[in-house]
Amino acid sequence: MSILITLNTKEDYHVHCNFNNHSAPDLTIRNVIKQCKEIGLQTLALTEHVRKGSDWIPNYLKDIESCLDTHNCMRIITGFEAKILIDGSIDCPKEYSKNYFLIASFHTVYNDKQVWIEALNKAIENPDVNVIGHIAPEPTFTLEKSEVNALASLIVKNKKIVELNAKYHRPPREWIQIFKKQGVKFHLGSDAHSLHDIGRFEKISDLISLVDDASPISTTED
Ligand SMILES: [Zn+2]
Ligand SMILES: [Zn+2]
Repeated sequence: MSILITLNTKEDYHVHCNFNNHSAPDLTIRNVIKQCKEIGLQTLALTEHVRKGSDWIPNYLKDIESCLDTHNCMRIITGFEAKILIDGSIDCPKEYSKNYFLIASFHTVYNDKQVWIEALNKAIENPDVNVIGHIAPEPTFTLEKSEVNALASLIVKNKKIVELNAKYHRPPREWIQIFKKQGVKFHLGSDAHSLHDIGRFEKISDLISLVDDASPISTTED
């Protein structure tokens, strides 16, 4: 059975705002939503970097809430991006991880393939996690094909989504091909840290074409 897969470039599932300390200062939630409307996005997921000790979360949620009513023509998802810790747990307070959209990503290099795989497997099995963010091997190792296959099965079994990340141009092409063959679901994330980067996926048009059966260049490369 084959199902045609189409990626919607009008949906951005990974956008930051200025609640972190390294985004553009004008990346307020209000401005993010305004920008999304201007470029005609249909879905926006706000996924600010969270830590277990983040004290700004109530303000962040309040801020999003106050912007929602006037922009109901677009689907707005409230969420977080949390780091996968070395033991595979997620760096987000439980009360938020279980109630909001959650991207789990590696933000630390662990320099050990086994540690990395075990942490990732735990994150994939974590019911709070919705998406595996900008996934790729660390500079010191690669995965064997069989390991990528095992990863793909676990992702499918646990119904996680793999994002095609525009900021880091990930996952690697070979992984995408294996994931796709195994039936992994994908969506797009700009990982925008500035207004300009929201909803911009030109840089990963090659990755999109690997996944998207409707893409005009999907059959030219393999
Ligand atoms: Zn990240
Ligand atoms: Zn991010």
